[in-house]
Amino acid sequence: MKALEEKILKEGTVLPGNVLKVGSFLNQQMDSDFIMEIGKEIARLYEGTGVTRILTIESSGIALAVAAGIAMHVPTVFAKKHRSANMPKAVYTAPVYSFTHHETYEIAVAREYLPAGEKVLVVDDFLANGNAVRGLMQIINEAGAELVGCAIAIEKGFQGAGDQLRKEGVRIDSLAIIDAMTDESVTFRAQ
Ligand code: 5GP
Repeated sequence: MKALEEKILKEGTVLPGNVLKVGSFLNQQMDSDFIMEIGKEIARLYEGTGVTRILTIESSGIALAVAAGIAMHVPTVFAKKHRSANMPKAVYTAPVYSFTHHETYEIAVAREYLPAGEKVLVVDDFLANGNAVRGLMQIINEAGAELVGCAIAIEKGFQGAGDQLRKEGVRIDSLAIIDAMTDESVTFRAQ
């Protein structure tokens, strides 16, 4: 998605530890119109696949996932990273090591929001080492639902997880794939 690459070049900054900061349009401040454009692009990519539900992980995946859910007219569910009192007892869980927080969370999805047989599209803002996606895949599997694919805004291709998942037969659609990034430059994979 050309517009996303342009936005990354214009507004993104590279932080130590291979972290790309996109707080001005995707993470902390969200460019609402642009997020809806991403949602529509995801809907276009998955047209005709019969997706019945979108699954993401809190918190930064939620905006994109809801935009895709609106464009596809399906519910959006997010995995929680922290247990809260109002969380139902019947949950699916999976451990996920956080790339940005350097700790392992137990993510949880209420069973009632992920019925068996659902055709699930995973949506997230970034794909780095693949831990978030793999945790969500584990939950989908446990629920007896079907993973249709993963739609990612920004894949850091140089970290390898996206290509590994593709090799394993998982459908991964990333709207921008970064093959290299330094303080001065970001290089995208042609796709
Ligand atoms: P993974 O689990 O694939 O290693 O990392 C994906 C998760 O970590 C995403 O949900 C995202 O929130 C966060 N993340 C990974 N890399 C980056 C990055 O470069 N910038 C930002 N802002 N978040 C990232």
